[in-house]
Amino acid sequence: MTLDGKHALITGGGSGIGLAVARALAGAGAEVTITGRRAAVLEAAAGPGLHPLVMDVTEEKQVVAGVAAAVAARGPVQICIPNAGIAEGRALHRTDAAFWRGIMATNLDGAFYTMRECLKDMRKTDWGRTIAISSIAGLKGLKGAPAYTASKHGMIGLIRALSEDYLGTGLTFNAVCPGYVDTEIVTRNATAIAARAGVSETQARAMMVEANRHNRLIAPEEVAQAVLWLCGPGSESVNGQAIEIAGGQV
Ligand code: NDP
Repeated sequence: MTLDGKHALITGGGSGIGLAVARALAGAGAEVTITGRRAAVLEAAAGPGLHPLVMDVTEEKQVVAGVAAAVAARGPVQICIPNAGIAEGRALHRTDAAFWRGIMATNLDGAFYTMRECLKDMRKTDWGRTIAISSIAGLKGLKGAPAYTASKHGMIGLIRALSEDYLGTGLTFNAVCPGYVDTEIVTRNATAIAARAGVSETQARAMMVEANRHNRLIAPEEVAQAVLWLCGPGSESVNGQAIEIAGGQV
């Protein structure tokens, strides 16, 4: 398969799942804009086919300007991957508006701004893929993380609505929903869970491993392969789906 001539944009593309997806798409020939807040992380990740762009997805103006600059440099974004996210758990009775807003601003508002801005030019073309990196928390309640769960359900709602709006065009909209993936988020989670539950970080990590149905962490590259498949020939009829990548049924 070739993605030659296709421009992909991945938020949070400098690390973890986003970087694995960026490398997979660039490996298939796409020109990939990778975005995030940390310039040094993006510069370190940059390479053949990978173009860094500093952009905070919580800032609407930055997303508008950032996507416009990427489009000016590499043409319409035809593969849009809203991936930037933060994962933090807090019981609802202890969730203040600032915590709620912080999660929503990154995970849901950020996906909304990114998808809207990319769609402006994508919809003028005859082929487009929007693939949101949601989570198993987009499909079921994640214990101890109501705000995160709501934000990830919201991403899937957005994807499903758009798949209806663009039925019969060359544009498809899907979400992938990973279980625990071996990235910095899991490392940070282990620290947080250890502090909250009074267990060691090793025990906290083991709890996440056990939460995956196949009893191991998922590699970011496994998520990237699913995204690549959704961009390749033969998956044109997959639309409006939330695909579990969790080692078993969620
Ligand atoms: P990482 O922490 O490596 O990736 C998160 C990325 O998001 C970073 O590159 C970060 O870059 C970027 N980001 C965070 N906030 C912002 C912001 N305000 N503006 C722009 N970029 C931002 O972890 P993962 O790769 O694991 O996470 C990627 C996605 O996958 C997330 O949406 C997460 O919820 C989801 N996911 C992860 C799972 C896991 O177990 N790891 C499981 C299921 C879903 P920077 O800090 O430089 O801005």
